[in-house]
Amino acid sequence: MTHPEESEEGSLLRVTVVGGGPVGLSMARLLEHFLGAQVKITVFEGRWRKDGRRVVWKSQEEGNVRRQQVVTVQSRQYLAWPQYVQERLFDPEHFTEMWPSGPDSIGDHHPRNMRIAYIEDKLLEPANEKRDRIRLIPAQVRPGGTARRTRLAACARHL
Ligand SMILES: Cc1cc2nc3c(=O)[nH]c(=O)nc-3n(C[C@H](O)[C@H](O)[C@H](O)COP(=O)(O)OP(=O)(O)OC[C@H]3O[C@@H](n4cnc5c(N)ncnc54)[C@H](O)[C@@H]3O)c2cc1C
Repeated sequence: MTHPEESEEGSLLRVTVVGGGPVGLSMARLLEHFLGAQVKITVFEGRWRKDGRRVVWKSQEEGNVRRQQVVTVQSRQYLAWPQYVQERLFDPEHFTEMWPSGPDSIGDHHPRNMRIAYIEDKLLEPANEKRDRIRLIPAQVRPGGTARRTRLAACARHL
C-alpha cells in the first residue's frame, strides 16, 4: 500500500508492508536506501514481538517455529541490496554456492544458499537501526477487523 503526500521537505511516500519475511524486509530496505527521507515505511509482522526498543522474532514458546530450510538467493536479487546489508548477510560461514549460474546470475556471481531464518535475522537487524524511516510493528494485519485496526493504531503510536 502506498500513500503519497506533501510535507515540508517535499513529496513524502508512505508505504505499508504486510509481512516481514525476506521479501517484505528486502523491499523496505531497498525503498529506504533509494528514497531516503522521501519515504516512511511501516512493516507489520505477526511473528515479531517487542524487546525493549527493538523488534525481534518470536520464539517457539511464543508460537513461532522458525523456518530452517535452505533457500537459494540469486545474484540479480542480492546484488541489488545495499552494500552494508550484503556485508552483514554474507558471512562466509553462513552460505554456500552449490548451484550453477543461470539467467538470474550476474557476471561471476553465483546463486547463494542460506537458511531462511538466518536471512530473516540479518535483514531485521539493520531495519531496527532505521527507526526514523522504517517502523516495525509486531502485529498481524486482519483486513476489515475494526478491533484489530484500533490495536494496530495504538501499537503504531507507541513505536
Ligand atoms: C521446503 C521449502 C523449500 C524452499 N526452498 C526455496 C528455495 O530454495 N529458494 C527460494 O527462493 N524459496 C524457497 N522456498 C520458499 C521460501 O520459503 C520463500 O522463497 C520465502 O519464504 C519467500 O519470502 P516472502 O517474504 O515472500 O514470504 P514469507 O517468508 O512467507 O514471509 C511472509 C511473512 O508475512 C507474514 N504475514 C503474512 N500475513 C500477514 C498478516 N496478515 N499480517 C502480518 N504479517 C503477515 C508471515 O508471518 C511471514 O513472516 C522454500 C519453501 C519451502 C517450504
